[in-house]
Amino acid sequence: MKHMRSFLTFPVRHYSKDVSEQTLSKSHQVISPLNFVLGKRIDAQGPSSFQLIAPATGKKLRNIATSNEQDINEAVLAARNSYRSWSKWTGFERGKVLKTAADLIRSKVDDLAYTEVLDTGKPIWEARYDILGCADTIEFYGGLAGGIKGDFMQLSGGSFAYTIREPLGVVGGIGAWNFPFQMAAWKSAPALACGNTMVFKPSQVTPLTAVMLGDIYQQAGLPGGCYNVVQGEGETGQILCSHPNIDKVTFTGSVPTGSRIMAACAKDIKHVTLELGGKSPFVVFSDADLDNAVKGAILANFSNQGQVCSNGTRVYVEESIAEKFLAKLIERVENMKIGDPYQEDTTIGATISPQQAAIVEDYINIGKKEGATVVYGGERVTPPGSNFAGGIYMRPCILVNCTDSMRVVKEEIFGPVMSLLTFKSEEEVIARANESEFGLAGGVFTRDLQRAHRFVAALEVGSIYVNNYNVYPVGVPFGGYKKSGIGRENGEDSLDYYSQIKSVYFEGGDVECPY
Ligand code: NDP
Repeated sequence: MKHMRSFLTFPVRHYSKDVSEQTLSKSHQVISPLNFVLGKRIDAQGPSSFQLIAPATGKKLRNIATSNEQDINEAVLAARNSYRSWSKWTGFERGKVLKTAADLIRSKVDDLAYTEVLDTGKPIWEARYDILGCADTIEFYGGLAGGIKGDFMQLSGGSFAYTIREPLGVVGGIGAWNFPFQMAAWKSAPALACGNTMVFKPSQVTPLTAVMLGDIYQQAGLPGGCYNVVQGEGETGQILCSHPNIDKVTFTGSVPTGSRIMAACAKDIKHVTLELGGKSPFVVFSDADLDNAVKGAILANFSNQGQVCSNGTRVYVEESIAEKFLAKLIERVENMKIGDPYQEDTTIGATISPQQAAIVEDYINIGKKEGATVVYGGERVTPPGSNFAGGIYMRPCILVNCTDSMRVVKEEIFGPVMSLLTFKSEEEVIARANESEFGLAGGVFTRDLQRAHRFVAALEVGSIYVNNYNVYPVGVPFGGYKKSGIGRENGEDSLDYYSQIKSVYFEGGDVECPY
């Protein structure tokens, strides 16, 4: 998921220094300790560790010590102690810290973006958009913080009641690898705005920029201990979720892990927000502006190497225009430049890991066995230059002759694989679009306003795009229906998920007691 403004109109700021991966890999962001507790970078105690690999080149960057129970205890204790004072700051004061952090992010956008590329292999300009979008998000919650308030209710006989919106306490945040900085920002900003403190665990694959966010918060005036980072694998996440001093868990990742986290939280009745996977429908009617629909389909399938939870990978095209749509689609996809993610004109960077590439390739083979035809792409590409030989670069894949019952059409692949299907009527396509265990997003391209509204009303998903796709302007809530999750991020509504309401009743007269 991402805040895509216009890809083409945003002014691109070029980095002035040498940005070879070799230089980046020796930077402070990579070699310094990667846990962040009480406002300082510290090493986890281990003793086990995991490797950090740069997806673009496949080169090992370093070993990272796994945070064990004691590391997590220390981080949670730091967050708990800081909570006592941070929760007493006024919302306005907390907002000022967040707004300063947003400005600092903008001033460091290239540092952050290049580090994000090192971690993820995504194209540099995409990383820059992600980072700038996060600055907006943090500023947005900074603006809301001062207005977080309760309600007043006048009652009879001079009595009255009011509500106080209070923070939850210490929040455990767990992120996936596709938008690492964004996950840390989208979770920490509303949490901090409400007066909570946080311990965040990034994905083991992308540990770097969540710590940079810690440095930035610190510089912005956030008291040490309010935002902490622990590095580790799934087990570290599990210990964090089950920790008795964690009051809420906010998670982004797969459905199976989300389900395990919910079960772990159930034991202590912890609050949970889950941003999970999807298999979203993308529908093109014959009256649509075809060029825009093709652009939308590419945004819905191939940005970030197809590793986007909200991707509209079930592409339903009205039968009468299917051939024309496919021809235009291939013509445009053929122009995508695959390779060196540090180049400004690259549009497809590296797949995150060999494991993820294997999952994607397996699905393409499953699709073929089920009767789908690869009409374009799906194979690995070796970009020019020996540097990138160790990375995995995949040509976007378009599957045709698909049916709704195929696994490639039903299951989330999380890679650049589009399944093309056709339909004859609106009624039919709405029923087929809803035939999914997921409900994260959906899109429709049509010029018929009434049809668009009917579609919006009928689709069982958390976000619907009419004549666009995968745009996430700050302030617009994001989250899923069905198995795609619980809760909302990126909008004012998220404040509900990081706060609780205390109701206060004031008696204006004598106590009436029938006993
Ligand atoms: P995973 O569910 O595998 O992992 C997500 C995070 O959970 C990682 O930090 C992981 O740690 C951690 N984790 C793993 N096991 C546990 C556990 N038992 N308890 C606590 N934490 C655990 O997802 P991926 O990282 O592979 O991300 C891809 C998935 O994320 C896709 O399904 C995608 O749709 C979804 N996603 C959803 C988004 C949304 O907003 N709805 C946005 C982006 C992605 P580690 O990796 O270090 O082992």
